[in-house]
Amino acid sequence: MVIPATHSKEEIFGLLATIYDPEIPVVTIQEMGMLRDVILTETGCEVIITPTYTGCPAMGIIEHDIIELLKQNGVPEVRVTTSYSPSWTTDWMTSETKEKLKNYGIAAPIHSSCVNWLQPKSLAISCPRCNSSDTTLISQFGSTACKALYSCNSCKEPFDYFKCH
Ligand SMILES: [Zn+2]
Repeated sequence: MVIPATHSKEEIFGLLATIYDPEIPVVTIQEMGMLRDVILTETGCEVIITPTYTGCPAMGIIEHDIIELLKQNGVPEVRVTTSYSPSWTTDWMTSETKEKLKNYGIAAPIHSSCVNWLQPKSLAISCPRCNSSDTTLISQFGSTACKALYSCNSCKEPFDYFKCH
């Protein structure tokens, strides 16, 4: 017996748009550009997500959240597929999302192809708190592998920089 699809693609997108990034709880997976597509199947749906960073440990949590949420909302069968092609780019974040990151204390990526992020001298990362560009790279890995840890020389506060790639 085939269970008829009970949700439209828009409804499923609407539900998924309420899932927050477990690493950055002020932005949703949709705002981060991780939510790529929803494909309706006869018995449920397939959700395509793209990780912001290869091997990002948050993806397991996101996958679990997606399945739980949709099942709670009556979608009988949910499959989550991780797509690496095209790979995620910081361009998929809107300027609004970057502003939210900044307010949360994470310096948002300046542009998508900052190959020079390892060389802080050539790339001034502004402090999300005081906007000073007098900052120093402390560690290539901040609270998660997706971020680098910087320290502000003006307000002396450390902050995460969301690495662009
Ligand atoms: Zn500062």
